[in-house]
Amino acid sequence: MSTLRFSGIACATVFALVSGSAAAQDAAAVIADASKAIGVEALNTVEYSATGFDFVFGQAYNPSSPWPKFIEKSYTRAIDFRTPASKVDRVRMQGENPPHGGGQQPVIGDQPQSQTIIVNASTPWVQQLEIWMMPHAFLRAATTNHATATSRTVAGKRYTVLSFKGQNNAQVNGYINDQHLVERVETWIDTAYLGDTLFESIYSNYKDFGGVKFPMKIVQTEGGYPIFDLVVSDVKPNAAVTIQAPQGRGGAPAGGPAAGAAPAAGVPTEKLAEGVYLILGGYASVAVDFRDYIVVIEGPQSEARAIQIIDAAKKLIPGKPIRYVVNTHHHFDHSSGLRTFVAEGATVVTHEVNKPYFEKLFALPHTLVPDRLAETRKTPTFETMTEKKVLTDGTHVIELHHLRGSGHNEGLVVAYLPKEKILIEADAYNPPAQPNAPRPATVSPYTANLMEHIDRLKLDVQRIIPIHYPADNRNVTLAELTRWVGRGN
Ligand SMILES: [Zn+2]
Repeated sequence: MSTLRFSGIACATVFALVSGSAAAQDAAAVIADASKAIGVEALNTVEYSATGFDFVFGQAYNPSSPWPKFIEKSYTRAIDFRTPASKVDRVRMQGENPPHGGGQQPVIGDQPQSQTIIVNASTPWVQQLEIWMMPHAFLRAATTNHATATSRTVAGKRYTVLSFKGQNNAQVNGYINDQHLVERVETWIDTAYLGDTLFESIYSNYKDFGGVKFPMKIVQTEGGYPIFDLVVSDVKPNAAVTIQAPQGRGGAPAGGPAAGAAPAAGVPTEKLAEGVYLILGGYASVAVDFRDYIVVIEGPQSEARAIQIIDAAKKLIPGKPIRYVVNTHHHFDHSSGLRTFVAEGATVVTHEVNKPYFEKLFALPHTLVPDRLAETRKTPTFETMTEKKVLTDGTHVIELHHLRGSGHNEGLVVAYLPKEKILIEADAYNPPAQPNAPRPATVSPYTANLMEHIDRLKLDVQRIIPIHYPADNRNVTLAELTRWVGRGN
Protein backbone atom coordinates (compact mmCIF):
# COMPACT_ATOMS: atom_id res chain seq x y z
CA MET A 1 0.00 0.00 0.00
CA SER A 2 2.65 2.42 1.03
CA THR A 3 4.67 1.72 -2.14
CA LEU A 4 1.63 2.26 -4.30
CA ARG A 5 0.76 5.48 -2.53
CA PHE A 6 4.35 6.64 -2.84
CA SER A 7 4.50 5.93 -6.53
CA GLY A 8 1.18 7.68 -6.95
CA ILE A 9 2.55 10.81 -5.30
CA ALA A 10 5.76 10.53 -7.29
CA CYS A 11 3.80 10.30 -10.52
CA ALA A 12 1.72 13.35 -9.65
CA THR A 13 4.87 15.30 -8.78
CA VAL A 14 6.58 14.38 -12.04
CA PHE A 15 3.48 15.34 -13.98
CA ALA A 16 3.30 18.69 -12.22
CA LEU A 17 6.96 19.35 -12.89
CA VAL A 18 6.63 18.47 -16.57
CA SER A 19 3.56 20.67 -17.11
CA GLY A 20 5.12 23.43 -15.01
CA SER A 21 8.33 23.44 -17.01
CA ALA A 22 6.38 23.24 -20.27
CA ALA A 23 4.39 26.33 -19.27
CA ALA A 24 7.57 28.11 -18.16
CA GLN A 25 9.19 27.23 -21.48
CA ASP A 26 6.21 28.63 -23.34
CA ALA A 27 6.41 31.81 -21.31
CA ALA A 28 10.15 32.11 -21.94
CA ALA A 29 9.56 31.76 -25.70
CA VAL A 30 6.73 34.29 -25.62
CA ILE A 31 8.90 36.75 -23.66
CA ALA A 32 11.81 36.17 -26.06
CA ASP A 33 9.66 36.76 -29.15
CA ALA A 34 8.03 39.86 -27.69
CA SER A 35 11.38 41.19 -26.45
CA LYS A 36 12.86 40.74 -29.90
CA ALA A 37 9.85 42.38 -31.55
CA ILE A 38 10.09 45.60 -29.53
CA GLY A 39 13.85 45.60 -28.87
CA VAL A 40 13.97 45.08 -25.11
CA GLU A 41 17.63 44.09 -24.94
CA ALA A 42 18.74 47.06 -27.03
CA LEU A 43 16.87 49.54 -24.84
CA ASN A 44 18.55 50.72 -21.65
CA THR A 45 16.87 54.09 -21.46
CA VAL A 46 14.17 55.95 -23.31
CA GLU A 47 12.89 59.49 -23.39
CA TYR A 48 9.54 60.23 -24.94
CA SER A 49 7.35 63.28 -25.34
CA ALA A 50 3.61 63.39 -25.62
CA THR A 51 0.54 65.56 -25.40
CA GLY A 52 -2.96 64.64 -24.36
CA PHE A 53 -4.92 64.52 -21.15
CA ASP A 54 -4.71 63.43 -17.57
CA PHE A 55 -7.71 62.74 -15.39
CA VAL A 56 -7.89 62.80 -11.60
CA PHE A 57 -8.98 59.51 -10.02
CA GLY A 58 -11.94 59.68 -7.65
CA GLN A 59 -12.83 63.30 -8.44
CA ALA A 60 -15.74 62.86 -10.87
CA TYR A 61 -18.56 65.41 -11.06
CA ASN A 62 -21.12 62.73 -10.28
CA PRO A 63 -21.26 58.95 -9.87
CA SER A 64 -21.80 58.33 -13.58
CA SER A 65 -19.17 60.65 -15.04
CA PRO A 66 -15.52 59.80 -15.78
CA TRP A 67 -12.64 61.30 -13.78
CA PRO A 68 -12.27 65.02 -14.60
CA LYS A 69 -10.00 65.97 -17.47
CA PHE A 70 -6.91 68.17 -17.56
CA ILE A 71 -4.75 69.05 -20.55
CA GLU A 72 -1.19 67.76 -20.78
CA LYS A 73 0.21 70.78 -22.60
CA SER A 74 3.59 69.08 -22.53
CA TYR A 75 4.72 65.75 -21.16
CA THR A 76 8.24 64.35 -21.24
CA ARG A 77 9.21 61.14 -19.53
CA ALA A 78 12.66 59.59 -19.15
CA ILE A 79 13.00 55.97 -18.06
CA ASP A 80 16.16 54.13 -17.11
CA PHE A 81 15.26 50.44 -17.28
CA ARG A 82 18.48 49.37 -15.56
CA THR A 83 17.97 51.14 -12.19
CA PRO A 84 14.97 51.23 -12.80
CA ALA A 85 13.96 54.86 -12.54
CA SER A 86 11.54 57.25 -14.16
CA LYS A 87 11.10 61.01 -14.31
CA VAL A 88 8.09 62.80 -15.71
CA ASP A 89 8.08 66.55 -16.38
CA ARG A 90 4.82 67.98 -17.52
CA VAL A 91 2.78 71.13 -17.79
CA ARG A 92 -0.92 70.80 -17.06
CA MET A 93 -3.79 73.12 -17.89
CA GLN A 94 -7.45 73.33 -16.97
CA GLY A 95 -9.31 70.85 -19.17
CA GLU A 96 -12.96 71.68 -18.76
CA ASN A 97 -14.58 75.07 -18.94
CA PRO A 98 -16.60 75.77 -16.93
CA PRO A 99 -14.80 73.61 -14.35
CA HIS A 100 -16.45 70.27 -13.72
CA GLY A 101 -15.51 68.00 -10.84
CA GLY A 102 -12.62 68.03 -8.39
CA GLY A 103 -8.86 67.73 -8.62
CA GLN A 104 -8.13 71.32 -7.56
CA GLN A 105 -10.01 73.02 -10.36
CA PRO A 106 -9.82 75.49 -11.84
CA VAL A 107 -6.15 75.25 -12.74
CA ILE A 108 -5.13 78.82 -13.55
CA GLY A 109 -2.61 79.09 -16.39
CA ASP A 110 0.20 76.58 -16.75
CA GLN A 111 0.83 74.15 -13.89
CA PRO A 112 4.26 72.51 -14.04
CA GLN A 113 4.57 69.17 -12.25
CA SER A 114 7.24 66.53 -12.02
CA GLN A 115 7.44 63.07 -10.53
CA THR A 116 10.56 61.01 -9.96
CA ILE A 117 10.56 57.32 -9.10
CA ILE A 118 13.80 55.55 -8.31
CA VAL A 119 13.05 51.96 -7.46
CA ASN A 120 14.69 50.55 -4.36
CA ALA A 121 13.66 48.05 -1.70
CA SER A 122 11.30 50.54 -0.03
CA THR A 123 9.60 51.97 -3.13
CA PRO A 124 5.83 51.40 -2.88
CA TRP A 125 4.63 48.82 -5.41
CA VAL A 126 2.11 51.25 -6.90
CA GLN A 127 4.96 53.62 -7.80
CA GLN A 128 7.07 50.77 -9.16
CA LEU A 129 4.15 49.75 -11.38
CA GLU A 130 4.46 53.07 -13.25
CA ILE A 131 7.68 51.60 -14.61
CA TRP A 132 6.91 47.85 -14.69
CA MET A 133 3.72 48.37 -16.68
CA MET A 134 5.61 50.00 -19.58
CA PRO A 135 6.01 47.41 -22.38
CA HIS A 136 9.81 47.03 -22.29
CA ALA A 137 9.94 46.99 -18.49
CA PHE A 138 7.02 44.56 -18.29
CA LEU A 139 8.89 42.01 -20.38
CA ARG A 140 11.97 42.41 -18.17
CA ALA A 141 9.77 41.95 -15.08
CA ALA A 142 8.07 38.93 -16.65
CA THR A 143 11.46 37.23 -16.89
CA THR A 144 12.59 38.18 -13.36
CA ASN A 145 9.28 37.10 -11.84
CA HIS A 146 9.03 33.78 -13.74
CA ALA A 147 5.84 34.69 -15.57
CA THR A 148 3.54 31.96 -16.83
CA ALA A 149 1.79 32.02 -20.20
CA THR A 150 -1.84 31.29 -21.02
CA SER A 151 -4.07 31.92 -24.01
CA ARG A 152 -7.02 34.22 -23.68
CA THR A 153 -9.55 35.63 -26.13
CA VAL A 154 -10.78 39.14 -25.43
CA ALA A 155 -13.44 40.71 -27.65
CA GLY A 156 -12.78 38.08 -30.32
CA LYS A 157 -9.02 38.71 -30.35
CA ARG A 158 -6.56 36.06 -29.25
CA TYR A 159 -3.72 36.94 -26.85
CA THR A 160 -0.99 35.16 -25.02
CA VAL A 161 -1.15 36.47 -21.50
CA LEU A 162 2.03 36.61 -19.44
CA SER A 163 1.25 36.64 -15.72
CA PHE A 164 3.19 37.03 -12.53
CA LYS A 165 2.39 38.00 -8.99
CA GLY A 166 3.13 41.59 -7.94
CA GLN A 167 4.57 42.62 -4.59
CA ASN A 168 1.01 43.34 -3.38
CA ASN A 169 0.00 39.75 -4.27
CA ALA A 170 -2.16 40.82 -7.22
CA GLN A 171 -1.62 39.25 -10.64
CA VAL A 172 0.15 41.40 -13.23
CA ASN A 173 -1.05 40.38 -16.69
CA GLY A 174 0.48 41.44 -19.98
CA TYR A 175 -1.50 40.81 -23.17
CA ILE A 176 0.76 39.91 -26.10
CA ASN A 177 -0.88 40.09 -29.53
CA ASP A 178 -0.13 38.00 -32.65
CA GLN A 179 2.58 40.49 -33.67
CA HIS A 180 4.37 39.87 -30.34
CA LEU A 181 3.50 43.38 -29.14
CA VAL A 182 2.48 44.19 -25.56
CA GLU A 183 -1.00 45.54 -26.08
CA ARG A 184 -2.14 45.85 -22.51
CA VAL A 185 -0.83 45.40 -18.98
CA GLU A 186 -3.32 45.08 -16.14
CA THR A 187 -3.13 44.57 -12.42
CA TRP A 188 -5.02 45.46 -9.25
CA ILE A 189 -4.01 47.90 -6.55
CA ASP A 190 -5.64 48.74 -3.24
CA THR A 191 -7.43 52.07 -2.98
CA ALA A 192 -9.18 52.94 0.26
CA TYR A 193 -12.72 53.23 -1.07
CA LEU A 194 -12.75 50.92 -4.13
CA GLY A 195 -10.61 48.18 -2.58
CA ASP A 196 -9.07 45.94 -5.25
CA THR A 197 -8.91 48.50 -8.06
CA LEU A 198 -8.22 47.64 -11.70
CA PHE A 199 -5.14 49.51 -12.94
CA GLU A 200 -4.26 49.07 -16.60
CA SER A 201 -2.21 50.50 -19.43
CA ILE A 202 -3.22 50.08 -23.06
CA TYR A 203 -0.62 50.47 -25.81
CA SER A 204 -1.28 50.88 -29.52
CA ASN A 205 0.10 52.29 -32.76
CA TYR A 206 3.65 50.94 -32.25
CA LYS A 207 6.28 52.65 -34.38
CA ASP A 208 9.82 51.55 -35.12
CA PHE A 209 12.76 53.66 -33.93
CA GLY A 210 15.88 51.92 -35.25
CA GLY A 211 14.85 48.46 -34.09
CA VAL A 212 13.06 49.62 -30.95
CA LYS A 213 9.30 49.61 -31.22
CA PHE A 214 7.39 52.05 -29.01
CA PRO A 215 3.63 52.69 -28.68
CA MET A 216 2.55 56.09 -29.96
CA LYS A 217 -0.71 55.90 -28.04
CA ILE A 218 -0.79 55.23 -24.30
CA VAL A 219 -3.98 55.06 -22.26
CA GLN A 220 -3.83 54.32 -18.57
CA THR A 221 -6.98 53.63 -16.57
CA GLU A 222 -7.73 53.28 -12.87
CA GLY A 223 -11.05 52.10 -11.50
CA GLY A 224 -12.53 51.80 -15.00
CA TYR A 225 -11.86 55.31 -16.35
CA PRO A 226 -8.76 56.86 -17.97
CA ILE A 227 -6.22 58.67 -15.83
CA PHE A 228 -3.90 59.31 -18.82
CA ASP A 229 -4.61 59.52 -22.53
CA LEU A 230 -1.40 60.38 -24.36
CA VAL A 231 -0.37 60.67 -27.97
CA VAL A 232 3.39 60.22 -28.18
CA SER A 233 5.09 62.63 -30.56
CA ASP A 234 8.78 61.82 -30.12
CA VAL A 235 10.79 58.85 -28.87
CA LYS A 236 14.52 58.85 -28.18
CA PRO A 237 15.76 55.30 -27.52
CA ASN A 238 18.87 55.16 -25.32
CA ALA A 239 18.81 58.89 -24.68
CA ALA A 240 21.37 60.06 -22.12
CA VAL A 241 19.10 60.34 -19.09
CA THR A 242 20.11 61.21 -15.54
CA ILE A 243 17.40 60.60 -12.98
CA GLN A 244 18.19 61.88 -9.51
CA ALA A 245 16.15 61.90 -6.34
CA PRO A 246 14.33 65.21 -5.95
CA GLN A 247 15.61 67.65 -3.34
CA GLY A 248 13.69 67.82 -0.06
CA ARG A 249 10.58 65.75 0.27
CA GLY A 250 10.66 62.33 -1.37
CA GLY A 251 8.35 61.05 -4.03
CA ALA A 252 5.63 60.02 -1.57
CA PRO A 253 2.22 61.42 -2.41
CA ALA A 254 0.86 64.20 -0.21
CA GLY A 255 -2.20 63.71 1.91
CA GLY A 256 -3.29 62.15 5.14
CA PRO A 257 -1.87 59.16 6.90
CA ALA A 258 -1.07 56.24 4.64
CA ALA A 259 -3.58 53.41 4.56
CA GLY A 260 -1.43 51.19 6.74
CA ALA A 261 -0.13 53.91 9.08
CA ALA A 262 -0.68 53.41 12.79
CA PRO A 263 -3.10 55.97 14.22
CA ALA A 264 -1.34 58.81 16.02
CA ALA A 265 -1.60 58.82 19.82
CA GLY A 266 -3.64 62.00 19.72
CA VAL A 267 -4.79 64.47 17.13
CA PRO A 268 -5.27 68.21 17.66
CA THR A 269 -8.84 69.11 18.57
CA GLU A 270 -10.67 72.33 19.39
CA LYS A 271 -13.93 72.95 21.21
CA LEU A 272 -15.89 75.16 18.82
CA ALA A 273 -18.95 75.49 21.08
CA GLU A 274 -20.76 73.49 23.76
CA GLY A 275 -20.74 69.90 22.49
CA VAL A 276 -19.19 70.81 19.12
CA TYR A 277 -15.61 69.75 18.46
CA LEU A 278 -13.21 70.28 15.58
CA ILE A 279 -10.84 67.37 14.86
CA LEU A 280 -7.66 68.30 12.97
CA GLY A 281 -4.51 66.45 11.98
CA GLY A 282 -5.69 65.62 8.47
CA TYR A 283 -8.81 66.70 6.66
CA ALA A 284 -10.95 68.47 9.27
CA SER A 285 -13.96 66.71 10.76
CA VAL A 286 -16.49 67.93 13.31
CA ALA A 287 -18.04 65.83 16.09
CA VAL A 288 -21.33 66.92 17.66
CA ASP A 289 -22.53 65.63 21.04
CA PHE A 290 -26.18 64.65 20.60
CA ARG A 291 -28.16 63.42 23.61
CA ASP A 292 -27.72 59.70 22.98
CA TYR A 293 -25.07 59.55 20.29
CA ILE A 294 -22.36 61.32 18.34
CA VAL A 295 -22.73 62.83 14.86
CA VAL A 296 -19.49 63.17 12.89
CA ILE A 297 -19.33 65.43 9.86
CA GLU A 298 -16.96 64.00 7.24
CA GLY A 299 -15.25 60.58 7.11
CA PRO A 300 -12.35 61.36 4.76
CA GLN A 301 -9.07 60.06 3.34
CA SER A 302 -8.46 56.52 4.59
CA GLU A 303 -9.14 53.94 7.25
CA ALA A 304 -6.15 55.24 9.24
CA ARG A 305 -7.59 58.77 9.25
CA ALA A 306 -11.10 57.51 10.07
CA ILE A 307 -9.72 55.63 13.08
CA GLN A 308 -8.05 58.85 14.28
CA ILE A 309 -11.35 60.73 13.97
CA ILE A 310 -13.38 57.98 15.63
CA ASP A 311 -10.93 57.70 18.52
CA ALA A 312 -10.81 61.49 18.96
CA ALA A 313 -14.62 61.80 18.87
CA LYS A 314 -15.06 59.06 21.48
CA LYS A 315 -12.48 60.68 23.73
CA LEU A 316 -14.14 64.10 23.44
CA ILE A 317 -17.63 62.67 23.88
CA PRO A 318 -17.22 59.57 26.05
CA GLY A 319 -19.76 56.80 26.44
CA LYS A 320 -21.77 57.40 23.27
CA PRO A 321 -21.79 55.57 19.96
CA ILE A 322 -21.20 57.30 16.63
CA ARG A 323 -24.67 56.99 15.09
CA TYR A 324 -24.25 59.18 11.99
CA VAL A 325 -21.46 60.21 9.67
CA VAL A 326 -22.31 63.07 7.32
CA ASN A 327 -20.62 62.95 3.90
CA THR A 328 -20.12 66.29 2.12
CA HIS A 329 -19.67 64.64 -1.30
CA HIS A 330 -18.54 61.45 -2.96
CA HIS A 331 -14.98 62.47 -4.00
CA PHE A 332 -12.73 59.73 -2.71
CA ASP A 333 -10.59 62.00 -0.55
CA HIS A 334 -13.80 62.97 1.28
CA SER A 335 -15.37 59.52 1.46
CA SER A 336 -12.54 57.00 1.85
CA GLY A 337 -13.01 56.87 5.63
CA LEU A 338 -16.75 56.13 5.42
CA ARG A 339 -16.23 52.35 5.36
CA THR A 340 -14.58 52.51 8.78
CA PHE A 341 -17.52 54.50 10.19
CA VAL A 342 -19.91 51.88 8.78
CA ALA A 343 -17.86 49.15 10.48
CA GLU A 344 -18.26 51.25 13.64
CA GLY A 345 -22.05 51.05 13.23
CA ALA A 346 -22.70 54.55 11.85
CA THR A 347 -25.34 55.40 9.25
CA VAL A 348 -24.04 57.40 6.29
CA VAL A 349 -25.90 60.64 5.61
CA THR A 350 -25.35 61.72 2.02
CA HIS A 351 -27.07 63.32 -0.95
CA GLU A 352 -29.49 60.93 -2.64
CA VAL A 353 -27.46 60.97 -5.88
CA ASN A 354 -24.75 58.99 -4.04
CA LYS A 355 -26.81 56.19 -2.49
CA PRO A 356 -26.85 53.64 -5.37
CA TYR A 357 -23.19 54.44 -6.10
CA PHE A 358 -22.14 54.02 -2.47
CA GLU A 359 -24.08 50.76 -2.18
CA LYS A 360 -22.12 49.46 -5.16
CA LEU A 361 -18.76 50.72 -3.83
CA PHE A 362 -19.31 49.38 -0.31
CA ALA A 363 -19.81 45.89 -1.75
CA LEU A 364 -16.53 45.82 -3.71
CA PRO A 365 -13.90 43.26 -2.63
CA HIS A 366 -11.03 44.45 -0.43
CA THR A 367 -8.86 41.34 -0.59
CA LEU A 368 -5.47 43.03 -1.18
CA VAL A 369 -5.71 45.16 1.97
CA PRO A 370 -8.70 44.03 4.06
CA ASP A 371 -10.12 46.84 6.18
CA ARG A 372 -12.44 46.82 9.22
CA LEU A 373 -15.56 46.68 7.05
CA ALA A 374 -14.19 43.77 5.02
CA GLU A 375 -13.63 41.98 8.33
CA THR A 376 -16.92 42.88 10.06
CA ARG A 377 -19.02 42.53 6.87
CA LYS A 378 -21.55 45.05 8.18
CA THR A 379 -24.24 46.15 5.73
CA PRO A 380 -24.11 49.93 5.26
CA THR A 381 -27.20 51.97 6.09
CA PHE A 382 -27.98 55.34 4.57
CA GLU A 383 -30.08 58.40 5.17
CA THR A 384 -30.31 60.58 2.11
CA MET A 385 -31.33 64.13 1.37
CA THR A 386 -32.22 66.27 -1.61
CA GLU A 387 -32.14 70.01 -0.89
CA LYS A 388 -32.25 70.14 2.91
CA LYS A 389 -32.11 67.81 5.88
CA VAL A 390 -32.04 68.60 9.59
CA LEU A 391 -30.43 66.42 12.23
CA THR A 392 -31.48 67.37 15.75
CA ASP A 393 -31.91 65.99 19.24
CA GLY A 394 -33.89 69.01 20.38
CA THR A 395 -30.77 70.77 21.63
CA HIS A 396 -28.28 70.56 18.81
CA VAL A 397 -29.32 71.35 15.27
CA ILE A 398 -27.34 70.45 12.16
CA GLU A 399 -28.83 71.75 8.93
CA LEU A 400 -27.56 70.09 5.80
CA HIS A 401 -27.94 72.12 2.62
CA HIS A 402 -27.33 70.98 -0.94
CA LEU A 403 -25.14 73.38 -2.94
CA ARG A 404 -27.35 73.03 -5.98
CA GLY A 405 -25.64 74.01 -9.21
CA SER A 406 -22.10 73.51 -7.95
CA GLY A 407 -19.84 72.35 -10.77
CA HIS A 408 -17.59 70.68 -8.22
CA ASN A 409 -19.94 67.83 -7.43
CA GLU A 410 -23.58 67.10 -8.15
CA GLY A 411 -24.34 66.10 -4.56
CA LEU A 412 -22.22 68.65 -2.68
CA VAL A 413 -23.59 69.30 0.83
CA VAL A 414 -22.64 71.82 3.52
CA ALA A 415 -23.48 71.57 7.23
CA TYR A 416 -24.72 74.66 9.07
CA LEU A 417 -25.11 74.88 12.84
CA PRO A 418 -27.57 77.78 13.28
CA LYS A 419 -27.13 78.18 17.04
CA GLU A 420 -23.34 78.20 16.84
CA LYS A 421 -23.30 80.07 13.48
CA ILE A 422 -20.78 77.58 12.09
CA LEU A 423 -20.63 76.50 8.45
CA ILE A 424 -18.76 73.32 7.53
CA GLU A 425 -17.89 73.06 3.85
CA ALA A 426 -15.68 71.05 1.53
CA ASP A 427 -14.09 72.19 -1.72
CA ALA A 428 -16.43 75.14 -2.24
CA TYR A 429 -13.90 77.45 -0.57
CA ASN A 430 -10.43 76.06 0.07
CA PRO A 431 -8.79 78.98 1.87
CA PRO A 432 -5.31 80.13 0.89
CA ALA A 433 -2.41 79.44 3.24
CA GLN A 434 -2.27 83.10 4.26
CA PRO A 435 -5.41 85.02 5.26
CA ASN A 436 -4.36 88.12 3.33
CA ALA A 437 -3.21 86.32 0.18
CA PRO A 438 -3.90 88.35 -2.97
CA ARG A 439 -7.35 87.65 -4.35
CA PRO A 440 -7.50 85.41 -7.41
CA ALA A 441 -7.87 87.14 -10.77
CA THR A 442 -10.97 85.04 -11.38
CA VAL A 443 -13.20 83.81 -8.58
CA SER A 444 -13.68 80.05 -8.67
CA PRO A 445 -17.25 79.29 -9.75
CA TYR A 446 -17.33 76.75 -6.89
CA THR A 447 -16.71 79.53 -4.35
CA ALA A 448 -19.16 81.89 -6.06
CA ASN A 449 -21.78 79.12 -5.81
CA LEU A 450 -21.18 78.77 -2.06
CA MET A 451 -21.57 82.53 -1.60
CA GLU A 452 -24.85 82.49 -3.55
CA HIS A 453 -26.23 79.77 -1.30
CA ILE A 454 -25.15 81.56 1.90
CA ASP A 455 -27.05 84.61 0.61
CA ARG A 456 -30.07 82.67 -0.62
CA LEU A 457 -30.44 80.68 2.60
CA LYS A 458 -29.63 83.76 4.70
CA LEU A 459 -27.13 81.76 6.72
CA ASP A 460 -25.74 83.79 9.61
CA VAL A 461 -22.18 82.50 9.45
CA GLN A 462 -19.58 83.57 11.98
CA ARG A 463 -17.06 80.86 11.42
CA ILE A 464 -16.33 78.64 8.45
CA ILE A 465 -14.80 75.21 8.97
CA PRO A 466 -13.22 74.23 5.66
CA ILE A 467 -12.60 70.48 5.52
CA HIS A 468 -9.32 71.50 3.83
CA TYR A 469 -8.31 73.45 6.89
CA PRO A 470 -5.70 76.20 6.41
CA ALA A 471 -2.23 75.20 7.59
CA ASP A 472 -1.97 78.17 9.98
CA ASN A 473 -5.08 76.86 11.86
CA ARG A 474 -6.67 80.32 11.77
CA ASN A 475 -10.35 81.03 12.25
CA VAL A 476 -11.85 81.41 8.80
CA THR A 477 -14.61 84.00 8.87
CA LEU A 478 -17.38 84.99 6.49
CA ALA A 479 -15.47 88.28 6.03
CA GLU A 480 -12.52 86.33 4.65
CA LEU A 481 -14.79 84.53 2.19
CA THR A 482 -16.56 87.73 1.08
CA ARG A 483 -13.19 89.41 0.51
CA TRP A 484 -12.07 86.36 -1.51
CA VAL A 485 -15.05 86.59 -3.85
CA GLY A 486 -14.45 90.31 -4.28
CA ARG A 487 -17.28 91.67 -2.19
CA GLY A 488 -15.45 92.77 0.96
CA ASN A 489 -12.40 94.96 1.41
ZN1 LIG B 1 -14.22 67.42 -3.94
